[in-house]
Amino acid sequence: MKKYNFNAGPSMLPREVVEQTASAVLDYDGTGLSLMELSHRSAQFKPILDEARALLKELLDVPAGYQVLFLGGGASMHFCMVPFNFLNGKAAYLNTGTWASKAMKEAKLFGEVVEVASSADKAFSYIPKAFVVPADADYLHVTSNNTIYGTQLRKDIDSPVPLIADMSSDILSRPVDVVKYNCIYGGAQKNLAQSGLSFMIVKESALGKVERAIPSILDYRVHIANGSLFNTPPTLPIYTALCNLRWVKEQGGVVEMERRARERAIVLYDEIDSNPLFCGTAAAEDRSYMNIDFVMAPGYEELEDAFATFAAERGVVAIKGHRTVGGFRASCYNAMPLEGAQALANCMKDFKNSI
Ligand SMILES: *Cc1c(COP(=O)(O)O)cnc(C)c1O
Repeated sequence: MKKYNFNAGPSMLPREVVEQTASAVLDYDGTGLSLMELSHRSAQFKPILDEARALLKELLDVPAGYQVLFLGGGASMHFCMVPFNFLNGKAAYLNTGTWASKAMKEAKLFGEVVEVASSADKAFSYIPKAFVVPADADYLHVTSNNTIYGTQLRKDIDSPVPLIADMSSDILSRPVDVVKYNCIYGGAQKNLAQSGLSFMIVKESALGKVERAIPSILDYRVHIANGSLFNTPPTLPIYTALCNLRWVKEQGGVVEMERRARERAIVLYDEIDSNPLFCGTAAAEDRSYMNIDFVMAPGYEELEDAFATFAAERGVVAIKGHRTVGGFRASCYNAMPLEGAQALANCMKDFKNSI
């Protein structure tokens, strides 16, 4: 039976990307060696890193003056590296959920942190709109897609100070106006590659402004100067990222990824809104195209496990919601075909008709 994998992360990748990675693990490009056995400074690996960097720049139309880094660690490492490198006096944070809160907690170790707004009052089910950003803040940090709560900033917001964004779970799912940002970062395991890798797009001229000493491994300037090879980066995930970046380009780039994401999301939200057994948890105007959260409607709560089983029997797997929200979460990253969203919507319809 065909399986549709709705895992939130690590998550589904295009089948051909998985196959290309598997083949490189066995024998990379006819070398007779596994890619895992090749030096990160070898003649074979350098073109992989160069092409991955160039493709991320090309696909997101990254302007001159920005650098792309691929580093170990996850998004959580950047929660600490970002303030280490960018927070001199004061930083502004928009608190839209668990990840934003974690980023903010780390920043407090480095300076004054202003929470410009929070949606904690309504269980992070919406994105605050009216807030004032202090003009003297070094940056405004936002989480572009709230993987757990299923809300998304689908546009690059205007801010009086440069933006810094955690784009872990919606990178490459839409065009981004990179000039608004000093830095865009994330873990790879949602929409780019397998786990173990993080990506970073950083404005070079925005670095070097903090007074504190920065340990080399946490200093973005050191990584830029060494072209992501200051220490050994996760070589296999970088190769997977390259295969995936090529795939995104072949499919039509981020404009096409956004069109598909919207199409999948509409299929699912339409079903959630019309099926009396289910209801969405995020405010309609802030609903994410990537993580579609829903719960059993009041009165039907006891059917939750039955629905999960019903869906799994039809090949629709990994839809359990995050423990803080409960219910269900259908994560639909770039690799999810429209038929996956339709399969889940059909499960919801058929389940309603079956009871
Ligand atoms: C998954 C996720 C993280 C955590 O990433 P790690 O790589 O595990 O550190 C941070 N932010 C967002 C938005 C995420 O979705």
